Amino acid sequence: MTIAVRTLDDGAWISVNDSRQVSVSDVWTLSRGVFCDCEPAYVLLEAFVDVSVDGSIVFADAVGQCLECGTRDPIDRLPVGRVVDGEFRPYDPEGVQWRVEPESERASRE
Ligand SMILES: [Zn+2]
Repeated sequence: MTIAVRTLDDGAWISVNDSRQVSVSDVWTLSRGVFCDCEPAYVLLEAFVDVSVDGSIVFADAVGQCLECGTRDPIDRLPVGRVVDGEFRPYDPEGVQWRVEPESERASRE
């Protein structure tokens, strides 16, 4: 099954199968060490730069800003939800414990 994803409105929305599903106005809770030194970091997304699908998981590349320390940076491959039985189920922004894994680690595990 093909999952069609794209960004809309200059990165304000992620569209999944032609329906607006994820908005940038959410604050995501990111675990420590991936974005800034806050633990956890509460990051307000400013724009989605790109969106991709890996298996059934939808990942977004975004730009965000930490509400506590003000760090503003790109975020790569933030999982924003997954597709189950053709239906998009967004993750809870407050529940995501996202962290960056170095490419080498990821490759060696696969
Ligand atoms: Zn911070």
